[in-house]
Amino acid sequence: MKKPFVYLVGAGPGDAELITLKAMRCLSVADCVIYDGLVNPLLLDYAPAGTEKICVAKHGGSTSSPRCGQDSIRQEQINELLVKKALEGKTIVRLKGGDPTLFSRGGEEVKILCDAGIDFEIVPGITAGLAAAQYCGIFLTDRNISSQVLFVTGHPAADKDFESIDWDTLGRFDGSIVLYMAMDNLDKIAQRLIAAGKDADTPVAVIQNATLSNQKFAAGSLCQIAGICRRQDISAPAIVIVGKVVQNEPAYQWFMKKPLFGKTIVITRDEMGNQRLGQMLLHQAANVIDFSCIQLQGPIESRFLTHAINDICDYDWIVFTSSNGVEFMFKLLHKAGKDSRNFGSAKIVCIGDRTAEALLQYGIRADFVPAEFTAKSLAKELAAKYDLRRKNILLLRSAIAPDDLADDLKQTGAAVEDVRLYTVISAVQDEAKKQELANLIQAGRVDWITFTSSSAVEGFFKNVDTELVRQANVKLASIGPETTKKLREYGLTVRIEAQTHTAEGLVDVLVNCQ
Ligand code: SAH
Repeated sequence: MKKPFVYLVGAGPGDAELITLKAMRCLSVADCVIYDGLVNPLLLDYAPAGTEKICVAKHGGSTSSPRCGQDSIRQEQINELLVKKALEGKTIVRLKGGDPTLFSRGGEEVKILCDAGIDFEIVPGITAGLAAAQYCGIFLTDRNISSQVLFVTGHPAADKDFESIDWDTLGRFDGSIVLYMAMDNLDKIAQRLIAAGKDADTPVAVIQNATLSNQKFAAGSLCQIAGICRRQDISAPAIVIVGKVVQNEPAYQWFMKKPLFGKTIVITRDEMGNQRLGQMLLHQAANVIDFSCIQLQGPIESRFLTHAINDICDYDWIVFTSSNGVEFMFKLLHKAGKDSRNFGSAKIVCIGDRTAEALLQYGIRADFVPAEFTAKSLAKELAAKYDLRRKNILLLRSAIAPDDLADDLKQTGAAVEDVRLYTVISAVQDEAKKQELANLIQAGRVDWITFTSSSAVEGFFKNVDTELVRQANVKLASIGPETTKKLREYGLTVRIEAQTHTAEGLVDVLVNCQ
């Protein structure tokens, strides 16, 4: 049996990129992840597919709302679970929001592990208080204003009363005060600080869901802040910052000023494609809903494909039409014990920069990338530059791509082997996910649905009612003319179309039209 081991890991405050490299490495070797409700679920993807994932919705006090939709379980049960799972000979990642030891019961968990003789490591994380300040442009230790900062809980442990916090000292403290779990008691905290001598006009900022697309910000004086939060519907999980470092300077709100901040955008590609597009949208602070509607299926076995694998260097030209084609082909080559060297002196064409990038990952630079990212322009551009007569061309493409490309290439006098490498099928989402999206659309809470291929359009409307989308007036964004045409066939209006027909181009138009 493997030696039990527990990593007590900080997941960061929310934004999935605010996790450490070390935390990612721990997740990649975990047999079991036991995670809190405030942990971003995207982080669970860093664990191997077969890893057991248990949400314990622990969130350090009654003031936070868990993100995993589970009821909280008691700390004692978490401790028991931790020990039980570890003693099964597992590597456990105990993933906790923010930093794993700040206002968390990390200390108790470590004690239990020590008592049980289980080895552990602690991996620090970015705590919500620091991240919240930074995502609002607040400098907690601006040297001209404050050279001290205090982290305080506004929600003392269950066996202690409100006065167990030294409010009198805090009232006299002239630095920055960062309060966690303070929303339930905000009125009381403000009054108590004022009673202890703090100026009623001291500026305060409250940041809910810091670092996420649904981040909210409120600012006001200490005597008014609780009312302001009520009116603006700001609640837990939130950080309260009290002190002169709080300014309400809109120019510093770099995060909430991002063009796609707060926009809910549905992405409809295959799982892999969604990951990339999703990342790009997240970088613009969008709230991304991953609704994969298509699946790639392949390789499609054929004698042409067998020939292509065995004698790849026989061809004068090899054409890749997508990065997926590159991936499929290399998987097959590797399976046959071959690698990039087997391409020999064959010249390679890639349609689209992404395809060329994918090829470069395998150490091969494309010899030709047509200026226009469409299959149609390829034959024209290629023949204008090279003499293709009697040349052997291997065309590697998806089964649903139109046949014109092979026909156009044949027109140049070349012998074309047209190999359908993979196909694209519609993916059906589970009922709960379909219903969830339908509800959001109906409630007007979806800003955009993006489509990156005609097959994604077909796949999407196998899952979601066209009428619902039309009536809710949700905006549709398309990657290019073919996709737009398909959407129109469904009687829908396309609000924007990418000028460059790539995921980057789609993100660009979304950003520019806000
Ligand atoms: N260990 C965590 C804190 C756990 S206590 C850390 O280091 O961040 C839970 C409290 O953290 C919440 O009630 C809230 O005050 C704060 N918090 C956690 N995530 C937050 C977020 N994304 N935005 C604002 N506050 C957050």
